[in-house]
Amino acid sequence: MASDRPAATEPLEEIPCNLCGGRRARLLHERPYQPYLAQEEGAFTATTDEFQNYGRIVRCLDCGLAYTNPRPKIADIAAGYAACVDETYLSESTSRSINSHFSLNTVKRFVRSGRLLEVGASTGYFLNAARVDYEVAGLEPSEWACRIARERFGLEVHPETLESSRRFVPGSFDVVAMIDVIEHLPDPRAAVCRAAELLRPGGLLYFVTPDIGSLSARMLGGYWWGLRPAHLYYLDQSTIGKMLDSAGLEMVLIKSFGRIFSYGYWVSRLKHYPPWICGSLRWMIRWLDIGDKLLYLDTRDSVEICARKRGGS
Ligand SMILES: [Zn+2]
Repeated sequence: MASDRPAATEPLEEIPCNLCGGRRARLLHERPYQPYLAQEEGAFTATTDEFQNYGRIVRCLDCGLAYTNPRPKIADIAAGYAACVDETYLSESTSRSINSHFSLNTVKRFVRSGRLLEVGASTGYFLNAARVDYEVAGLEPSEWACRIARERFGLEVHPETLESSRRFVPGSFDVVAMIDVIEHLPDPRAAVCRAAELLRPGGLLYFVTPDIGSLSARMLGGYWWGLRPAHLYYLDQSTIGKMLDSAGLEMVLIKSFGRIFSYGYWVSRLKHYPPWICGSLRWMIRWLDIGDKLLYLDTRDSVEICARKRGGS
């Protein structure tokens, strides 16, 4: 059958550890992995239903970093995000605005004004909240998300990645934010180093990511929600500390990060668990008529981190 996509001759490649360059690793979890199929089904979207089929996840024997190996080639990953369209993401508009303020409140504890860059800005909820206090800029690989940010919020988000963009001067930002982004990046260490380069001395890197060292990640094992085809790296407190340190950043805060979503959305995130769990919860939500009501949950397996660039106050 004819296809617009390039032929996947060798879709996966073996990679060394991103943090220490080591190649010795032990298997953590394994599922089948079909990256092209996953891409077609929207595995690169934030609201994906694609949780299983995450391939082979290993842990570096030298530094402890967990990552997907083998994994798709960087060009294929980049093409997946550039083509990403996620209308479902917009259906939880109120929740996403509130969640943005949770992040913003944490950032403001350390830096209250100045220039703020968001990497992976998606459709602009966080930047829209942040521009009250900061002069904001955004990068986002999805052309669709950049268009929504422009149409909804009048924000100019550039369809570029942190690695490829050359529009910003080193030392020119007070804050760089990456919310639910670092685990998707092909080279997170390079991204953290580039973020540090863009920060002024004393500037703040803020990011949110799933925590594979959390209790629920350890209890749920291969069924943990954090394991999915679009996630390439799985950080914990130890590897986060090492990555920040290698980029000249000092961690000043790490804590669990809860969010608000509608009851209906939360239950939709459970599709890969046994059908009776999802079915019973759906029935209960319909019976109580609370599908659109908002619920704050902190499952303590997602963390927010603040790190200062060394050399400033
Ligand atoms: Zn390593």
